[in-house]
Amino acid sequence: MTLFPFFKRKTFSRGVHPDANKSTAGNPIRRMPFASRMILPLAQHIGKPAVPLVRAGEEVVRGQPIARADGFLSVPIHAPADGVIESIELKPSARGPWVESIVLRVYEASTQEVRWATPRDVHTLSPREILQAIQDSGMVGLGGAAFPSHAKLAAPPEYKIHTLVVNGCECEPYLTCDHRLMLEYPEDLLDGIRLAMKAVGAERAIIGVEDNKMDAVAAIRAAIEKSGHSACDIDVQAVETKYPQGAEKMLVKSLLGVEVPAGGLPMHIGVVVNNVGTLALLGSLIPQGKGLTERVVTVTGPGIKKPGDYWVPIGTPMRTVLEWAGAADAGEREIILGGPMMGQAVASLDVPVTKGVSGILVFDKLQLESDRKVWPCIKCSECVKACPMGLNPSMLGMLAAQREYESMGSTYHLGDCFECGCCTYVCPSHIPLVQQFRVAKGILRGKAT
Ligand code: SF4
Ligand code: SF4
Repeated sequence: MTLFPFFKRKTFSRGVHPDANKSTAGNPIRRMPFASRMILPLAQHIGKPAVPLVRAGEEVVRGQPIARADGFLSVPIHAPADGVIESIELKPSARGPWVESIVLRVYEASTQEVRWATPRDVHTLSPREILQAIQDSGMVGLGGAAFPSHAKLAAPPEYKIHTLVVNGCECEPYLTCDHRLMLEYPEDLLDGIRLAMKAVGAERAIIGVEDNKMDAVAAIRAAIEKSGHSACDIDVQAVETKYPQGAEKMLVKSLLGVEVPAGGLPMHIGVVVNNVGTLALLGSLIPQGKGLTERVVTVTGPGIKKPGDYWVPIGTPMRTVLEWAGAADAGEREIILGGPMMGQAVASLDVPVTKGVSGILVFDKLQLESDRKVWPCIKCSECVKACPMGLNPSMLGMLAAQREYESMGSTYHLGDCFECGCCTYVCPSHIPLVQQFRVAKGILRGKAT
């Protein structure tokens, strides 16, 4: 038994401590101007792609719905600027395949004003009406998952939700967009939390923030006090700065001390987890009856001259963002969308910023390549010690090399791997374990269908 339980930091077992590199945390969010042309993929969320509501040649105004949701697991898309629809055609996506996209030519005179909005009194909305309003706003998980937010909050009736866990960890190195939102928009965050609590029927919300962002904890505490809300129903708590503290299951363990069962979801133990960025935007958009047209993106890395957090209109081509932020010689650089641990390399600079893009990181390609020389496994077990899910990545890696995919799934619980990358990060042999696991999962999924 520890002698000092009161000083023990809230955390989970294992994980890693990568360098934070959060140099952009100290500067206010800036606004990025409109690109002359925006690309809006119909599939920028998990679920069915949206269905176009416009045709080529049609004029639209900022905030106007230009594609509707196709069923429950889908969200609409809104015009990010005033302009004219140029085409609806296949365009490259960040993952590689070309996807159907709406191309908008932006009027030079387009302003930041959103003219398509229907303000509403949120206090009179029922939980079902709140969910509908969230779907109509086009909101998805802005932490990177891009899962439709209304669907995440619509827990089946057999699961009684008692707690909304609000993820303010931002444990990925380099990313600071959530940190800035917590500092600059704590009131919007509280408004979004209240809406989400009502939608799911939760009696309390706990905001978990890593203890390297105590200024954000203070800003939220001050906003709670100012709002007259008691700390009993909305509370903010610091958790240990450790990767992947922001993973749903890890944060639930850290804050509530309970495990989400293997193969289960937080809702199975009465908890729903939402990201601070998503809730802050909901708190702003829902009362105004507006759709999601922009998001905060961290643009940083050694290859960026003007690093910072920016309000970026959804649909802005990556090339335009990088030109604006001063990325020199983009051809010699490696561009990562999201954080360095779980993000993905971009196949083309012509891909746009979509709703799930939290960061654009620019690294030196040559440096990364020299880091990537792969050696045989030396059985050091560092990966086992790092895996927050208690898996055996070394064994999984050996099975992947032998293409023993079934055994990876049935005996070594590959399905519990959520691809955090801790094993790859600590491996002294630079074995691309998480990349192997992604391939294995894809093959197993393919066999199951
Ligand atoms: S990527 Fe998977 S196996 Fe590797 S540490 Fe994370 S959860 Fe464990
Ligand atoms: S960390 Fe790498 S070298 Fe060490 S046991 Fe795991 S796979 Fe092998």
